[in-house]
Amino acid sequence: LSSKLPKVSTTIFTVMSQLAKEHNAINLSQGFPDFPVAESLVDKVYEYMKKGFNQYAPMQGEMALREAVAEKMENMYSQPYNPDTEITITAGGTQAIFSAITALIKEEDEVIIFTPAYDCYAPTVELSGGKAIYFPLRAPNYDIDWNEVKKLITRRTRMIIINTPHNPTGQVLSAGDMQQLERITKDNEIVILSDEVYEHIIFDGYEHQSVARYPKLAERSFIVGSFGKTFHATGWKVGYCAAPENLMKEFRKVHQYNVFAVNRPVQLALADHLKDPSNYLEVSEMYQEKRNVFVSSLKGSRFKINRSAGTYFQLLDYSEITDEKDTDFSVRLTKEHGVASIPVSVFYNNPVHDNMLRFCFAKEEETLKRAAEILVKL
Ligand code: GLN
Repeated sequence: LSSKLPKVSTTIFTVMSQLAKEHNAINLSQGFPDFPVAESLVDKVYEYMKKGFNQYAPMQGEMALREAVAEKMENMYSQPYNPDTEITITAGGTQAIFSAITALIKEEDEVIIFTPAYDCYAPTVELSGGKAIYFPLRAPNYDIDWNEVKKLITRRTRMIIINTPHNPTGQVLSAGDMQQLERITKDNEIVILSDEVYEHIIFDGYEHQSVARYPKLAERSFIVGSFGKTFHATGWKVGYCAAPENLMKEFRKVHQYNVFAVNRPVQLALADHLKDPSNYLEVSEMYQEKRNVFVSSLKGSRFKINRSAGTYFQLLDYSEITDEKDTDFSVRLTKEHGVASIPVSVFYNNPVHDNMLRFCFAKEEETLKRAAEILVKL
């Protein structure tokens, strides 16, 4: 069979979670919380199911949820989105990313992707016949030199994908980055795909730089959000995409034949839950506390730590422990020591060896402490 994606194999998240299970290791690899969803939210889902909301939701998503998303975005970023024409509820962030890329990218189109990059971007570009143009960022700060990015822009560049707070590095873009992005896109028609699924998980007083804050960027951007990340319900697979009407129109053409519509009782429950802003505004504080517990429990270890500024991931530099490749070390750490992580080199197209592993701290404190206890001894 001639494969459309010959270089793609099973995602690292599946591989490492399975390895963790086989070896009964503490699983800090794949990003998902090990603590429960708010009981009131779960009750709501049940309530809507009991009330009989069990048939198709509208293709675009339940209006109540689209309105709640628009309100949240207006409150947080002062950018109005029309829930009727500019917001669509998706089956998670990944499906929103898939639909946005597929809707726009044609044969030979170029898409600029910063690496390390979340693993679904490039395969989706390639599936559409487009070409991923990689811009490597390097440890420990992963700063972007926008003048260098500008040099990659050609008449074929159709899209730039950004992600803040950033998976896997835990870094965040600054207002300065956003102004630079505005500058390099002002004389072209490049569309921005802004993966903001960790928007409500940001620490140390940093403000999330949504493209929605910048009207000149917002008018050319798809923004992707995720309720799974914000409300600890990654298994529900519900997220959203916001974009100006001309982009959203194309997005929906793909969305309707990709999933058609998304889980209805969950959407209705989320709409109610979003009405109380504290439900999403308090998430950062909860995760900052977890990051602090993880980082302080690693005191005295030989791992070098550049504290995560957002997301629920912490990178650890193991240069002082071993010179093994990260792909080897993460496997050995899982099998021999019982802690699973994700090797960061897999997020690059040409593996660079910065000796970095990614650890997910969306876990109960007790789990984090147990893992740190093992890591400190290495
Ligand atoms: N987003 C999660 C992570 O980065 C994993 C999602 C998945 O397993 N595909 O770990």
